[in-house]
Amino acid sequence: MKSCDALIVGGGPAGSTCARQLSRSGLDIMVMDKADFPRDKVCAGWITPSVVKTLELDLDTYRREHVLQPITGFKVGIIGNAQSEVRYQAPVSYGIRRLEFDDYLLRQSGARLQLGESVKSIQRQNGTWLINGTISTPLLIGAGGNACPVARHIGNKISGGHLQVFAKEIEFLMAPQQVEKCAIRADTPELFFCRDLKGYGWCLRKGDYLNLGFGREDTSPLSPHLNDFCSFLLSQDKLPTDLPQGFHGHAYALYGHSQRQLLTDGALIIGDAAGLATERSGEGIRPAVESALFAAQAITAAAGDYRQQRLRAYEDQLFAHFGMPQPPASGLVADAIRRSLGRILLNSLWFNRHIVLDGWFLRMDKGSERMN
Ligand SMILES: Cc1cc2nc3c(=O)[nH]c(=O)nc-3n(C[C@H](O)[C@H](O)[C@H](O)COP(=O)(O)OP(=O)(O)OC[C@H]3O[C@@H](n4cnc5c(N)ncnc54)[C@H](O)[C@@H]3O)c2cc1C
Repeated sequence: MKSCDALIVGGGPAGSTCARQLSRSGLDIMVMDKADFPRDKVCAGWITPSVVKTLELDLDTYRREHVLQPITGFKVGIIGNAQSEVRYQAPVSYGIRRLEFDDYLLRQSGARLQLGESVKSIQRQNGTWLINGTISTPLLIGAGGNACPVARHIGNKISGGHLQVFAKEIEFLMAPQQVEKCAIRADTPELFFCRDLKGYGWCLRKGDYLNLGFGREDTSPLSPHLNDFCSFLLSQDKLPTDLPQGFHGHAYALYGHSQRQLLTDGALIIGDAAGLATERSGEGIRPAVESALFAAQAITAAAGDYRQQRLRAYEDQLFAHFGMPQPPASGLVADAIRRSLGRILLNSLWFNRHIVLDGWFLRMDKGSERMN
Protein backbone atom coordinates (compact mmCIF):
# COMPACT_ATOMS: atom_id res chain seq x y z
CA MET A 1 0.00 0.00 0.00
CA LYS A 2 1.33 3.46 -0.97
CA SER A 3 0.27 6.65 0.78
CA CYS A 4 0.64 10.38 0.18
CA ASP A 5 -0.64 13.68 1.63
CA ALA A 6 -2.71 14.27 -1.50
CA LEU A 7 -3.37 12.32 -4.68
CA ILE A 8 -4.01 14.36 -7.81
CA VAL A 9 -5.80 12.51 -10.58
CA GLY A 10 -4.65 13.94 -13.93
CA GLY A 11 -1.30 15.41 -14.93
CA GLY A 12 -2.53 18.14 -17.31
CA PRO A 13 -1.97 21.85 -16.58
CA ALA A 14 -4.46 21.82 -13.67
CA GLY A 15 -2.94 18.76 -11.99
CA SER A 16 0.72 19.72 -12.46
CA THR A 17 0.15 23.29 -11.28
CA CYS A 18 -1.64 22.16 -8.15
CA ALA A 19 1.06 19.53 -7.55
CA ARG A 20 3.83 22.08 -7.87
CA GLN A 21 2.20 24.51 -5.48
CA LEU A 22 1.38 21.89 -2.84
CA SER A 23 4.85 20.31 -3.12
CA ARG A 24 6.34 23.75 -2.52
CA SER A 25 4.33 23.99 0.70
CA GLY A 26 5.96 20.77 1.90
CA LEU A 27 3.23 18.21 1.19
CA ASP A 28 4.00 14.80 -0.26
CA ILE A 29 2.03 14.82 -3.51
CA MET A 30 1.39 12.02 -5.95
CA VAL A 31 0.00 12.56 -9.48
CA MET A 32 -1.74 9.64 -11.15
CA ASP A 33 -2.46 9.76 -14.88
CA LYS A 34 -3.80 7.06 -17.13
CA ALA A 35 -1.38 8.17 -19.85
CA ASP A 36 2.36 7.80 -20.01
CA PHE A 37 3.99 11.20 -20.49
CA PRO A 38 4.79 12.84 -22.79
CA ARG A 39 1.21 12.44 -23.99
CA ASP A 40 -0.66 14.55 -26.48
CA LYS A 41 -3.87 16.40 -25.72
CA VAL A 42 -6.48 17.55 -28.22
CA CYS A 43 -5.89 21.31 -28.15
CA ALA A 44 -4.90 24.23 -30.36
CA GLY A 45 -2.03 24.92 -27.97
CA TRP A 46 -2.44 28.67 -27.64
CA ILE A 47 -1.48 30.19 -24.30
CA THR A 48 -2.26 33.74 -23.28
CA PRO A 49 -0.01 36.10 -21.27
CA SER A 50 -1.69 35.39 -17.97
CA VAL A 51 -0.82 31.67 -18.29
CA VAL A 52 2.86 32.53 -18.69
CA LYS A 53 2.66 34.85 -15.70
CA THR A 54 0.65 32.55 -13.45
CA LEU A 55 2.92 29.59 -14.20
CA GLU A 56 6.05 31.74 -13.73
CA LEU A 57 7.16 30.25 -17.03
CA ASP A 58 10.67 31.29 -18.02
CA LEU A 59 10.19 31.61 -21.76
CA ASP A 60 13.91 31.71 -22.58
CA THR A 61 14.48 28.44 -20.77
CA TYR A 62 11.36 26.87 -22.23
CA ARG A 63 12.10 27.81 -25.84
CA ARG A 64 15.58 26.25 -25.67
CA GLU A 65 14.16 22.74 -26.00
CA HIS A 66 10.51 23.24 -26.88
CA VAL A 67 8.44 24.79 -29.61
CA LEU A 68 7.37 28.30 -28.58
CA GLN A 69 5.76 30.35 -31.33
CA PRO A 70 5.30 34.07 -30.60
CA ILE A 71 2.01 35.45 -31.89
CA THR A 72 1.99 39.10 -32.98
CA GLY A 73 -1.18 39.26 -35.04
CA PHE A 74 -4.38 37.51 -36.08
CA LYS A 75 -6.60 37.24 -39.09
CA VAL A 76 -10.28 37.07 -38.17
CA GLY A 77 -13.47 36.67 -40.18
CA ILE A 78 -16.55 34.63 -40.98
CA ILE A 79 -16.09 31.44 -42.98
CA GLY A 80 -16.61 32.43 -46.63
CA ASN A 81 -16.13 36.18 -46.03
CA ALA A 82 -13.11 38.47 -46.15
CA GLN A 83 -10.82 38.51 -43.11
CA SER A 84 -9.44 41.47 -41.18
CA GLU A 85 -5.85 41.43 -40.04
CA VAL A 86 -4.99 42.80 -36.61
CA ARG A 87 -1.35 43.43 -35.70
CA TYR A 88 0.38 44.06 -32.35
CA GLN A 89 3.78 45.59 -31.61
CA ALA A 90 4.92 42.69 -29.40
CA PRO A 91 3.86 39.07 -28.80
CA VAL A 92 0.37 38.85 -27.30
CA SER A 93 0.28 35.04 -27.01
CA TYR A 94 2.33 31.95 -27.76
CA GLY A 95 1.76 28.68 -29.56
CA ILE A 96 3.00 25.62 -27.67
CA ARG A 97 2.71 21.88 -28.33
CA ARG A 98 0.71 20.19 -25.57
CA LEU A 99 2.82 17.07 -25.95
CA GLU A 100 5.81 19.09 -24.73
CA PHE A 101 4.15 21.69 -22.54
CA ASP A 102 2.24 19.32 -20.25
CA ASP A 103 5.24 17.03 -19.85
CA TYR A 104 7.48 20.00 -18.98
CA LEU A 105 5.08 21.25 -16.32
CA LEU A 106 4.53 17.81 -14.83
CA ARG A 107 8.26 16.98 -14.60
CA GLN A 108 8.83 20.31 -12.84
CA SER A 109 6.05 19.82 -10.31
CA GLY A 110 8.13 18.01 -7.70
CA ALA A 111 5.40 15.40 -7.26
CA ARG A 112 5.78 11.63 -7.32
CA LEU A 113 4.37 10.38 -10.61
CA GLN A 114 2.19 7.34 -11.06
CA LEU A 115 1.84 7.34 -14.84
CA GLY A 116 0.14 4.86 -17.13
CA GLU A 117 -2.40 3.96 -14.46
CA SER A 118 -6.07 4.79 -14.75
CA VAL A 119 -8.28 5.40 -11.73
CA LYS A 120 -10.49 2.32 -11.62
CA SER A 121 -11.91 2.48 -8.11
CA ILE A 122 -12.43 5.17 -5.49
CA GLN A 123 -13.39 4.07 -1.97
CA ARG A 124 -13.76 6.04 1.23
CA GLN A 125 -12.94 4.34 4.53
CA ASN A 126 -12.83 6.12 7.89
CA GLY A 127 -12.10 9.52 6.37
CA THR A 128 -9.39 8.20 4.03
CA TRP A 129 -9.52 7.61 0.29
CA LEU A 130 -8.40 4.32 -1.17
CA ILE A 131 -7.62 4.52 -4.90
CA ASN A 132 -7.41 1.36 -7.00
CA GLY A 133 -7.06 -0.51 -3.71
CA THR A 134 -3.38 0.48 -3.60
CA ILE A 135 -2.99 4.16 -2.69
CA SER A 136 -4.35 5.75 0.48
CA THR A 137 -4.64 9.49 0.98
CA PRO A 138 -6.65 11.96 3.09
CA LEU A 139 -7.10 14.32 0.13
CA LEU A 140 -8.18 13.59 -3.43
CA ILE A 141 -7.89 16.25 -6.14
CA GLY A 142 -9.73 15.67 -9.40
CA ALA A 143 -7.81 17.13 -12.36
CA GLY A 144 -8.75 14.42 -14.82
CA GLY A 145 -10.25 16.68 -17.49
CA ASN A 146 -13.84 16.72 -18.67
CA ALA A 147 -14.64 13.10 -17.74
CA CYS A 148 -12.65 13.11 -14.50
CA PRO A 149 -13.47 10.07 -12.32
CA VAL A 150 -13.24 12.20 -9.16
CA ALA A 151 -15.78 14.66 -10.58
CA ARG A 152 -18.12 11.74 -11.26
CA HIS A 153 -17.51 10.24 -7.85
CA ILE A 154 -18.54 13.40 -6.02
CA GLY A 155 -21.84 13.46 -7.89
CA ASN A 156 -21.37 15.17 -11.22
CA LYS A 157 -23.07 14.03 -14.37
CA ILE A 158 -20.46 14.56 -17.07
CA SER A 159 -22.36 14.39 -20.35
CA GLY A 160 -25.91 15.37 -21.19
CA GLY A 161 -28.11 17.98 -19.59
CA HIS A 162 -25.82 20.87 -20.44
CA LEU A 163 -24.19 22.49 -23.43
CA GLN A 164 -20.63 21.45 -24.22
CA VAL A 165 -18.10 22.48 -26.81
CA PHE A 166 -17.34 19.68 -29.26
CA ALA A 167 -14.06 20.15 -31.06
CA LYS A 168 -11.76 18.33 -33.45
CA GLU A 169 -8.15 19.06 -34.13
CA ILE A 170 -5.10 17.82 -35.95
CA GLU A 171 -1.48 18.82 -35.44
CA PHE A 172 1.34 17.70 -37.70
CA LEU A 173 4.84 18.58 -38.80
CA MET A 174 4.66 19.87 -42.36
CA ALA A 175 7.11 18.49 -44.89
CA PRO A 176 9.15 21.19 -46.73
CA GLN A 177 6.84 21.05 -49.77
CA GLN A 178 3.82 21.44 -47.47
CA VAL A 179 5.43 24.45 -45.78
CA GLU A 180 5.77 26.04 -49.22
CA LYS A 181 2.04 25.55 -49.88
CA CYS A 182 0.94 26.78 -46.44
CA ALA A 183 -0.32 30.38 -46.57
CA ILE A 184 -0.76 30.62 -42.77
CA ARG A 185 1.96 32.77 -41.21
CA ALA A 186 3.54 31.37 -38.07
CA ASP A 187 3.13 34.62 -36.11
CA THR A 188 -0.45 35.19 -37.32
CA PRO A 189 -3.06 32.54 -36.44
CA GLU A 190 -6.31 32.70 -38.38
CA LEU A 191 -9.77 32.42 -36.79
CA PHE A 192 -12.85 31.68 -38.87
CA PHE A 193 -16.26 32.02 -37.22
CA CYS A 194 -19.30 30.02 -38.31
CA ARG A 195 -22.10 32.01 -39.94
CA ASP A 196 -24.37 31.27 -36.97
CA LEU A 197 -21.51 32.14 -34.60
CA LYS A 198 -21.93 28.91 -32.66
CA GLY A 199 -18.29 28.09 -33.10
CA TYR A 200 -15.13 28.73 -35.01
CA GLY A 201 -12.28 27.08 -36.83
CA TRP A 202 -8.63 27.94 -36.49
CA CYS A 203 -5.30 27.56 -38.25
CA LEU A 204 -2.39 27.97 -35.88
CA ARG A 205 1.16 27.42 -37.00
CA LYS A 206 3.99 26.77 -34.59
CA GLY A 207 7.13 26.91 -36.69
CA ASP A 208 6.56 24.13 -39.20
CA TYR A 209 3.88 22.43 -37.08
CA LEU A 210 0.38 23.17 -38.26
CA ASN A 211 -2.57 22.92 -35.89
CA LEU A 212 -5.94 22.96 -37.59
CA GLY A 213 -9.21 22.59 -35.72
CA PHE A 214 -12.85 23.40 -35.38
CA GLY A 215 -15.17 23.64 -32.36
CA ARG A 216 -18.89 24.24 -31.90
CA GLU A 217 -21.15 24.50 -28.93
CA ASP A 218 -24.18 22.62 -30.22
CA THR A 219 -25.13 18.97 -30.37
CA SER A 220 -25.39 18.56 -34.14
CA PRO A 221 -22.63 16.35 -35.64
CA LEU A 222 -19.37 18.22 -35.99
CA SER A 223 -17.91 16.45 -39.02
CA PRO A 224 -20.02 18.18 -41.73
CA HIS A 225 -18.99 21.57 -40.34
CA LEU A 226 -15.36 20.50 -40.18
CA ASN A 227 -15.45 19.17 -43.75
CA ASP A 228 -16.98 22.43 -45.02
CA PHE A 229 -14.34 24.38 -43.14
CA CYS A 230 -11.48 22.36 -44.63
CA SER A 231 -12.97 22.66 -48.13
CA PHE A 232 -13.19 26.41 -47.67
CA LEU A 233 -9.55 26.63 -46.57
CA LEU A 234 -8.43 24.56 -49.54
CA SER A 235 -10.51 26.68 -51.94
CA GLN A 236 -8.68 29.75 -50.61
CA ASP A 237 -5.27 28.07 -51.15
CA LYS A 238 -4.56 28.47 -47.44
CA LEU A 239 -3.26 24.94 -46.87
CA PRO A 240 -1.35 22.17 -48.60
CA THR A 241 -3.83 19.84 -50.30
CA ASP A 242 -2.36 16.65 -48.80
CA LEU A 243 -3.61 17.17 -45.24
CA PRO A 244 -3.27 14.07 -43.06
CA GLN A 245 -6.45 12.24 -42.06
CA GLY A 246 -7.50 11.53 -38.52
CA PHE A 247 -8.74 14.58 -36.66
CA HIS A 248 -8.99 13.89 -32.91
CA GLY A 249 -12.16 14.91 -31.09
CA HIS A 250 -12.86 16.05 -27.55
CA ALA A 251 -15.69 17.71 -25.62
CA TYR A 252 -15.49 20.12 -22.72
CA ALA A 253 -17.73 22.36 -20.68
CA LEU A 254 -17.78 26.14 -20.57
CA TYR A 255 -17.83 27.85 -17.20
CA GLY A 256 -21.30 28.03 -15.71
CA HIS A 257 -22.88 25.67 -18.21
CA SER A 258 -22.44 22.46 -16.28
CA GLN A 259 -22.76 23.84 -12.71
CA ARG A 260 -20.60 21.12 -11.22
CA GLN A 261 -20.36 20.16 -7.58
CA LEU A 262 -16.80 21.30 -6.82
CA LEU A 263 -16.01 19.68 -3.49
CA THR A 264 -16.95 17.32 -0.73
CA ASP A 265 -15.25 16.05 2.44
CA GLY A 266 -11.64 15.31 1.48
CA ALA A 267 -11.98 16.00 -2.25
CA LEU A 268 -12.21 18.81 -4.77
CA ILE A 269 -12.00 19.21 -8.54
CA ILE A 270 -10.07 21.69 -10.70
CA GLY A 271 -9.59 22.64 -14.37
CA ASP A 272 -11.75 20.97 -17.01
CA ALA A 273 -12.95 18.51 -14.36
CA ALA A 274 -14.72 21.50 -12.81
CA GLY A 275 -16.00 22.76 -16.20
CA LEU A 276 -14.12 26.05 -16.20
CA ALA A 277 -13.28 26.84 -19.84
CA THR A 278 -13.91 30.43 -20.86
CA GLU A 279 -17.06 31.40 -22.70
CA ARG A 280 -16.59 32.83 -26.20
CA SER A 281 -12.96 31.75 -26.71
CA GLY A 282 -13.04 28.27 -25.16
CA GLU A 283 -9.68 28.99 -23.46
CA GLY A 284 -9.19 26.30 -20.82
CA ILE A 285 -5.50 26.29 -19.84
CA ARG A 286 -5.69 29.62 -17.99
CA PRO A 287 -8.70 28.66 -15.83
CA ALA A 288 -7.09 25.25 -15.24
CA VAL A 289 -3.93 26.74 -13.76
CA GLU A 290 -5.78 29.49 -11.90
CA SER A 291 -8.18 27.04 -10.28
CA ALA A 292 -5.22 24.84 -9.34
CA LEU A 293 -3.63 27.70 -7.44
CA PHE A 294 -6.89 28.60 -5.69
CA ALA A 295 -7.28 24.97 -4.66
CA ALA A 296 -3.70 24.77 -3.38
CA GLN A 297 -4.22 27.91 -1.33
CA ALA A 298 -7.41 26.58 0.29
CA ILE A 299 -5.78 23.20 0.96
CA THR A 300 -2.74 24.76 2.61
CA ALA A 301 -4.97 26.96 4.76
CA ALA A 302 -7.05 23.92 5.79
CA ALA A 303 -3.89 22.51 7.42
CA GLY A 304 -4.88 18.86 7.25
CA ASP A 305 -8.56 19.31 8.20
CA TYR A 306 -10.16 18.60 4.81
CA ARG A 307 -13.81 18.63 5.80
CA GLN A 308 -16.06 20.25 3.20
CA GLN A 309 -16.53 23.45 5.21
CA ARG A 310 -12.75 23.89 5.43
CA LEU A 311 -12.32 23.47 1.65
CA ARG A 312 -15.18 25.87 0.89
CA ALA A 313 -12.63 28.72 0.58
CA TYR A 314 -11.67 27.19 -2.80
CA GLU A 315 -15.19 27.55 -4.15
CA ASP A 316 -15.50 31.07 -2.74
CA GLN A 317 -12.29 32.16 -4.43
CA LEU A 318 -13.27 30.52 -7.70
CA PHE A 319 -16.63 32.31 -7.76
CA ALA A 320 -15.02 35.62 -6.75
CA HIS A 321 -12.53 35.30 -9.62
CA PHE A 322 -14.68 33.83 -12.42
CA GLY A 323 -18.02 35.26 -11.26
CA MET A 324 -21.01 33.29 -10.01
CA PRO A 325 -21.84 30.58 -12.56
CA GLN A 326 -24.74 31.78 -14.71
CA PRO A 327 -27.27 29.50 -16.38
CA PRO A 328 -26.36 29.01 -20.05
CA ALA A 329 -28.07 32.00 -21.60
CA SER A 330 -25.12 32.29 -23.93
CA GLY A 331 -22.32 30.13 -25.24
CA LEU A 332 -19.16 30.88 -27.16
CA VAL A 333 -20.86 34.03 -28.34
CA ALA A 334 -23.87 35.72 -26.75
CA ASP A 335 -27.13 34.66 -28.41
CA ALA A 336 -28.36 38.17 -29.15
CA ILE A 337 -25.15 39.08 -30.94
CA ARG A 338 -25.15 35.74 -32.69
CA ARG A 339 -28.59 36.24 -34.17
CA SER A 340 -28.47 39.83 -35.25
CA LEU A 341 -25.23 41.72 -35.18
CA GLY A 342 -22.52 39.09 -35.29
CA ARG A 343 -22.05 38.69 -39.00
CA ILE A 344 -21.99 42.41 -39.61
CA LEU A 345 -19.69 43.12 -36.68
CA LEU A 346 -17.18 40.45 -37.63
CA ASN A 347 -16.58 42.33 -40.88
CA SER A 348 -15.41 45.31 -38.86
CA LEU A 349 -11.71 45.70 -38.11
CA TRP A 350 -12.50 47.68 -34.96
CA PHE A 351 -14.82 44.96 -33.62
CA ASN A 352 -12.35 42.19 -34.42
CA ARG A 353 -9.50 43.98 -32.72
CA HIS A 354 -11.18 45.41 -29.63
CA ILE A 355 -13.98 42.95 -28.89
CA VAL A 356 -13.06 39.59 -30.42
CA LEU A 357 -9.30 39.65 -29.87
CA ASP A 358 -8.49 42.08 -27.05
CA GLY A 359 -11.71 41.25 -25.16
CA TRP A 360 -12.84 37.67 -25.77
CA PHE A 361 -9.56 35.96 -26.64
CA LEU A 362 -6.72 37.94 -25.06
CA ARG A 363 -8.75 39.35 -22.16
CA MET A 364 -6.66 42.51 -22.08
CA ASP A 365 -9.48 44.22 -20.18
CA LYS A 366 -8.85 41.72 -17.33
CA GLY A 367 -5.30 42.93 -16.81
CA SER A 368 -3.50 40.56 -19.17
CA GLU A 369 -0.24 41.89 -20.53
CA ARG A 370 1.68 41.69 -23.69
CA MET A 371 4.94 39.82 -23.50
CA ASN A 372 8.38 40.43 -24.88
C1 LIG B 1 -9.85 21.06 -29.75
C2 LIG B 1 -9.53 21.84 -28.49
C3 LIG B 1 -8.72 22.97 -28.60
C4 LIG B 1 -8.38 23.68 -27.43
N1 LIG B 1 -7.52 24.74 -27.56
C5 LIG B 1 -7.16 25.42 -26.46
C6 LIG B 1 -6.18 26.47 -26.54
O1 LIG B 1 -5.61 26.74 -27.60
N2 LIG B 1 -5.87 27.15 -25.41
C7 LIG B 1 -6.47 26.86 -24.20
O2 LIG B 1 -6.17 27.55 -23.21
N3 LIG B 1 -7.36 25.86 -24.09
C8 LIG B 1 -7.70 25.11 -25.17
N4 LIG B 1 -8.55 24.05 -25.05
C9 LIG B 1 -9.01 23.65 -23.71
C10 LIG B 1 -7.86 22.97 -22.95
O3 LIG B 1 -7.33 21.94 -23.75
C11 LIG B 1 -8.35 22.37 -21.62
O4 LIG B 1 -9.17 23.31 -20.98
C12 LIG B 1 -7.17 22.03 -20.71
O5 LIG B 1 -6.44 20.97 -21.25
C13 LIG B 1 -7.66 21.66 -19.30
O6 LIG B 1 -6.56 21.20 -18.54
P1 LIG B 1 -6.80 20.11 -17.38
O7 LIG B 1 -5.48 19.94 -16.72
O8 LIG B 1 -7.97 20.49 -16.57
O9 LIG B 1 -7.23 18.76 -18.13
P2 LIG B 1 -6.43 17.88 -19.23
O10 LIG B 1 -5.39 18.69 -19.89
O11 LIG B 1 -7.51 17.27 -20.06
O12 LIG B 1 -5.73 16.77 -18.38
C14 LIG B 1 -6.46 15.74 -17.77
C15 LIG B 1 -5.55 14.55 -17.52
O13 LIG B 1 -6.28 13.56 -16.77
C16 LIG B 1 -5.96 12.29 -17.23
N5 LIG B 1 -7.06 11.37 -16.89
C17 LIG B 1 -8.32 11.38 -17.38
N6 LIG B 1 -9.04 10.37 -16.87
C18 LIG B 1 -8.22 9.70 -16.03
C19 LIG B 1 -8.38 8.55 -15.23
N7 LIG B 1 -9.54 7.86 -15.18
N8 LIG B 1 -7.33 8.11 -14.49
C20 LIG B 1 -6.13 8.78 -14.53
N9 LIG B 1 -5.93 9.88 -15.29
C21 LIG B 1 -6.95 10.34 -16.04
C22 LIG B 1 -5.75 12.46 -18.72
O14 LIG B 1 -4.93 11.43 -19.25
C23 LIG B 1 -5.09 13.85 -18.79
O15 LIG B 1 -3.69 13.76 -18.84
C24 LIG B 1 -8.89 23.30 -26.17
C25 LIG B 1 -9.71 22.17 -26.08
C26 LIG B 1 -10.02 21.44 -27.23
C27 LIG B 1 -10.89 20.21 -27.11
